[in-house]
Amino acid sequence: MNFVEQDDPDVWAAISAEQTRQAEGLEMIASENFTSPAVMQAVGSVLTNKYAEGYPGHRYYGGCEFVDKVEDLARERLKALYGAEHVNVQPHSGSQANAAVYMTAIQPGDTVLAFDLAHGGHLTHGMKLNASGVLYRFVHYGVRPTDHRLDFDQVARLAREHKPKLIVAGASAYPREIPHGTFAEIAREVGAKLMVDMAHYAGLVAAGIHDNPVPVADFVTSTTHKTLRGPRGGIAMCRAADAKSLDRSVFPGQQGGPLMHVIAGKAVAFGEALRPEFKAYARQVVANARALAEALCAGGVRLVSGGTDNHLMLVDVTPLAIGGKLAEETLDRCGITCNKNMIPFDERKPMDPSGIRLGTPALTTRGMGADEMRRIAAWILRALREHGDPRAIAAIRAAVTELAEQFPVPAARLGQPEAVAG
Ligand SMILES: *Cc1c(COP(=O)(O)O)cnc(C)c1O
Repeated sequence: MNFVEQDDPDVWAAISAEQTRQAEGLEMIASENFTSPAVMQAVGSVLTNKYAEGYPGHRYYGGCEFVDKVEDLARERLKALYGAEHVNVQPHSGSQANAAVYMTAIQPGDTVLAFDLAHGGHLTHGMKLNASGVLYRFVHYGVRPTDHRLDFDQVARLAREHKPKLIVAGASAYPREIPHGTFAEIAREVGAKLMVDMAHYAGLVAAGIHDNPVPVADFVTSTTHKTLRGPRGGIAMCRAADAKSLDRSVFPGQQGGPLMHVIAGKAVAFGEALRPEFKAYARQVVANARALAEALCAGGVRLVSGGTDNHLMLVDVTPLAIGGKLAEETLDRCGITCNKNMIPFDERKPMDPSGIRLGTPALTTRGMGADEMRRIAAWILRALREHGDPRAIAAIRAAVTELAEQFPVPAARLGQPEAVAG
């Protein structure tokens, strides 16, 4: 029985339309993915009913014996995945995980050195409207104008000049592998702690494709819903010496009761990421990004840094005489979802920047490979060139839907959402 449809047709109509949008379109937002049916069932389970403030074995509520088991499974699997000494699986989001690490590592007013938002950083890395930027004094490094790679001369210079208590590595829109060891050397030289926020590429690290920050960083945070392909949420990891302090910063520092249904989904997702199939998935994500990048470049756009090592690329669309805002809207009309994005040293405004950001994690989960990426690149190029021609857009949209139907989304295996067990 579909309880939502029966009890609340208005909400059901929106859920149902979103399900169709996901199934019929091509999801190329680099931070999105499709969880497995098992993860969705865990998140839709009775664990949503349970209060469990505290940690396994030390809760402020009774009846926690089974949720304790779930959280222990999530913690053990996460430790195994990255070789971490201590993990916390309770942060409600990547932003909460970052806030908890700041609370552990530094004091309000302290100086932090992090990646510039305009060059690919994240708003929790010191944007002035974010709590991080309100509470701490952020200084930002960027990429080199010549090749769009991280400017480590600048990182070292700013570190010596500002003596930060904490250096933050990690990005939301950087298409290259991040050498965490180089950040660790600079942090050691100036006596700063190192935090790596691997929210975007955690899945590639889990698969052994991207450098693992855990051995060299004091703190590592991540989301669980991007390349890691779990439920929407966050995680934080540290060495044994900081374990108590980090746990206190998450609860009661930042949060009350943990979302036990989401933690169950995290446990399932970490279990999936430990299997060999996940390594194959992550390798295909990167191979697909490379194929897409090459086809786009050959078609006349410019890629930030000239290409990609990971799951995403930043495309400068201005050589096609279009801006990022219209590019995003045009692709949306074709059923291809992505986001407009600033490119480094962008001369246009954030609401209409020069670029779009494209990622392959979600399409790869549907089973698509390099051939599909080349077809999609051709549609993207045609759409951006012929954005004023409704017939061209309609033809591309039809082709997109036809391709999407050949690669069903994982949720299709659940049938309708009402099949999600309680
Ligand atoms: C996505 C992201 C986050 C925040 O994640 P939310 O779950 O949306 O709060 C933090 N840091 C980086 C680098 C990210 O890309």
